[in-house]
Amino acid sequence: MSGPKHSCGVVGFALNTNIAPFIYRALRVIQHRGQESAGVSFYDGEGIQTVKGSGLVHEVLDAERLASIEGKSGIGHVRYSTAGSKGDLNSQPMSVATLHGQMALAHNGDITNADELRRSYLQKGWAFLTDSDSEIILRLLSRDSSSYHDPIRAIKNVMSIIDGAYSLTILIGDRVFGVRDPYGFHPLCVGRLSEGYFLASESAVVDILQGEFVCDVGPGEIVEIPPDSVKISPPHKLSNTAHCMFEWVYFARPDSVLDGRETYQVRRNIGKILAKECPVDADVVIPVPDSGRAHGLGFAEESGISYEEGFMKNRHVERTFILPDQKQREAGVSLKLNPIRSTIQGRRVVVVDDSIVRGTTLRKLVQMLRKAGAKEVHVRIGCPPIISPCYYGVDMKSRDQFVATNRSVDEIADLITADSLGYISIKGLVEALGFSEQDLCLACVTGRYPTVIAGESHRFQRRLDSDF
Ligand code: 5GP
Ligand code: MG
Repeated sequence: MSGPKHSCGVVGFALNTNIAPFIYRALRVIQHRGQESAGVSFYDGEGIQTVKGSGLVHEVLDAERLASIEGKSGIGHVRYSTAGSKGDLNSQPMSVATLHGQMALAHNGDITNADELRRSYLQKGWAFLTDSDSEIILRLLSRDSSSYHDPIRAIKNVMSIIDGAYSLTILIGDRVFGVRDPYGFHPLCVGRLSEGYFLASESAVVDILQGEFVCDVGPGEIVEIPPDSVKISPPHKLSNTAHCMFEWVYFARPDSVLDGRETYQVRRNIGKILAKECPVDADVVIPVPDSGRAHGLGFAEESGISYEEGFMKNRHVERTFILPDQKQREAGVSLKLNPIRSTIQGRRVVVVDDSIVRGTTLRKLVQMLRKAGAKEVHVRIGCPPIISPCYYGVDMKSRDQFVATNRSVDEIADLITADSLGYISIKGLVEALGFSEQDLCLACVTGRYPTVIAGESHRFQRRLDSDF
């Protein structure tokens, strides 16, 4: 599949006042969803302006650039770092000029038939400026807006052409739309302020802007947010959804409620179920901060083993997961996390993390714990073994990078030098999430995909477009 893979964060605002201070804060709230680039497109009364670039939100939108944002409607984006996909060209929002005005798009997810679509439109003589799947959505949208003169009809038509994962915020002239794919892979919600309405990837934005939560954008729904009403067009309903379980396991903030489930509580449930499924005799439970904290707490609560801080995390170190080579990733882990000796020395330790992908983090941490004097090191993981790539926007791309590919749990335990290793089961994870298994995307742990992916097995027989 071409193009950068990205799970990102999106927002959209339609207010009766300047959006600048609101959109800036909203983007900072969802900064964890993407640190590579940030941007805002806004309607300035005459046309759409875009301010974007590489870096964190407060770097890209420095005082001068923030002051240049003056408009009552706009959309914003933070883009997730993935190895080898840097570059301003792919940063978002993307905007185009059409016969009927300008439009801009911010996208979270991955379009799974992007290659196919790109090829077919290239053959028709279209040209693309980027290798991004988001550009394909934008070009289709501008084409259909010109033929239908009705944004909602245009969006619906584009939805019938594209497959895969997309939570979108769209600015068409001064109108702001939110769209979620029919499977509801990634989240999107609507909030209300006294100044108007907004859309955001995560509900934590609602709290921090001191707004009111209105609703999640449902799977397949298109929402328009004028300042005084929320219009929800009839959703494209499939018989099942495919919410990405990794949003709750790792990606979203603990204080966000996605589709009715608070991330923190789900993680705590995961930890409790994990303690039941993979019990261990030990003296202390320590989480891998920050992503493993709530899972660890649940484990401690259920097992009755005391919960303590076992690692100090340096907040100022960049994400290690995305560093390009193994040596750098390992060095990154020890720069980021250091054991607290008094918690560890002479004790049997259970270390709890949210997930193992390559195994880099845990192998390094187990070594550190031994060096700090741990008597035993037991590893417990809040996500079943990751064995299949994600085509829907999470940076887990190839089978050969997964430590669980062709290895048993015991072999992985040996590799990370743990005294024991336990993963939550798929059934346990589903129970912790409180959805029916059929309504979740579990492809990375089952290898069964909710949409048709060439060369992969899928859980539905029909194609998405047969539902429209
Ligand atoms: P590993 O070191 O096994 O390759 O990755 C697992 C660690 O990276 C866990 O601590 C987990 O919190 C984090 N992680 C898992 N998936 C992702 C991801 O998609 N992006 C980033 N940045 N970190 C991840
Ligand atoms: Mg982590």
